Parts: sequence; structure tokens; C-alpha cells
Amino acid sequence: MSNGTRIDPEEREPRAIKIRQPKHKGRKIVIAVLCAVLVLALGGGVFAFIEYGPDFLDFTTVFISTGTPSESEEPAEDEPLQSSQPEIPEEPVSEPEQVVTEEPIEEDPEHEEDVDEPEVPAEPPKPEIPKDEWFMILVNKENPLPEGFTVETAVIDGSNHAVDTRIAADLSAMVAAGNEAGLDFVFYTAYRSVEKQNELFAAGKTDVPGGFGEHNSGLAVDIGNAGNADFSGSAEEAWLLEHAHEYGFILRYPEGKEDITGFKHEPWHFRYVGREQAKLVFESGLCLEEYLAQ
Ligand SMILES: [Zn+2]
Repeated sequence: MSNGTRIDPEEREPRAIKIRQPKHKGRKIVIAVLCAVLVLALGGGVFAFIEYGPDFLDFTTVFISTGTPSESEEPAEDEPLQSSQPEIPEEPVSEPEQVVTEEPIEEDPEHEEDVDEPEVPAEPPKPEIPKDEWFMILVNKENPLPEGFTVETAVIDGSNHAVDTRIAADLSAMVAAGNEAGLDFVFYTAYRSVEKQNELFAAGKTDVPGGFGEHNSGLAVDIGNAGNADFSGSAEEAWLLEHAHEYGFILRYPEGKEDITGFKHEPWHFRYVGREQAKLVFESGLCLEEYLAQ
């Protein structure tokens, strides 16, 4: 039995060893884990440096700065991470790629210009003013009729006045349309020869000498209604102000244009410029001097 008791300590020793062995194993495991962590950390660092190169340091600064935004500025200046900042200028080297991306953007404006180009010719639908045409001649106190000017005239239907033969049809059409609207027009003056103009000028009945009056051209008419050479405020005046341009006539001396035309407002004086131009002058709101000066 004594042997058996001796064995006990022997049995206790292995028990102690068994207790110590786990301790050694635990240390080894800890060391192994630490080594593994170090290897992984070093390996990861090397891999990151190889993979991202100098940018890896920048990445660490970003990572640190994002971790502590309030302190991000200070460590960037003091810590060795600052060494990565001088390498930042290398980033612009990669920026040229952005410049390359801008080139296709430049192509877009070209396409837009192509789109705009058809719009540009669409803008000048303005027909060129036929300033040299007979119906666009400018006659005023500063611009007399050309020397040797002559005009063929025709008597206006239902009156003893005459106009340029070429405008007689439009004038008759305008009068007929007004008559259908229940209006009655009376012509007080139309074509007036240069000789007649000079007689009136010599008599002091006009301040416009021969050749400087629009009535000398055969393109102007003074229209009133029955009994009123000045039909201001009448239905005939209102109708002409709205429809005269449809037949090629414009109000020649509008209110507010006295300084340009040289004449006070004459509600009765209408001038022929052709239907197309009359519409444009009417819509422009300009007097003839302004319209021709465009
Ligand atoms: Zn007149």
C-alpha cells in the first residue's frame, strides 16, 4: 500500500505537469497569435503600400482625420503623415484624365451649336426693307423728290382727286371695305403737282415747298368723312387706324413722332408703302423715317 502511497506523489506530479502544460500551451498560443497579428499587420501594410503606394499614407491620414475630424488638421501638420502631403502634387498628374473627360464635354457644345445654327437663320425672318422700291421713297422737309421725278396718276373713283396709278386698286379696295362697314370716306387732297405745291408755298398756305411734299409723289391721300376734313374721333378714323395697313397704307404723321417726321399729328394723312411693308411698319410702331433707318 506504501507503494501505492508513493505513487500518489508521482501521480500528483504528472497532475502538476498537466496543469503546467496548459500554461505553456497558452503562452505559445498567445505568442503565436501575436506573431500572426504582427505578420498580418506587416503583410497588410506592405500590401497596402504596394497596392496604393504613396497614396496609402494619404489614405491613412484620411482614415485618421475622418476618425477625429476636430483633430484632423493638427496631426496632419505634425505627424510623419505630413510626408505624404508633398506627394499630393502627384495627384494633378492623374487629373489630366479629367481634362480628357472634358473633351467630350466640349463636343456637346458643338452639338448645341449645331442645334442653334438652324435657329439663327430662323431669327432673321425679317424681310429686307426694299428701300429702293418706288413705294418706299422717303419724301419730307429734308428729302425732296429726285430731280426730274414724274408719276402717272389715275383719278380716284367717286372723286376729283388722283393718285399714283399703281396704288389706285388698293385704295379703291380700302374704300370699298370701309363702305361695307357702313363708313363714308371723302378725299380732301391726294396727288398735288410740284407746280401747285409751289403756288401754295408762295401764297403762304403751306410751309412745304414744291418737291418736298409727300402729296407731290402721288402716294399720299388726305382722308376725311362727309363734312370733316379732320375726322378725329370718328368711326372712319378708328376703322382706318385698324385696317389701313391691310391695304398698304400707314398713318404717316403719328402722334409723338413730330420731331422725326417734321409734322404735327395729322389723323387724315395716309401714305402708301405696299401691303407687305405697311403691315410691318404698322406692327413696328415706327414712323416711316424710323422704319427706313433700321
Ligand atoms: Zn396730307
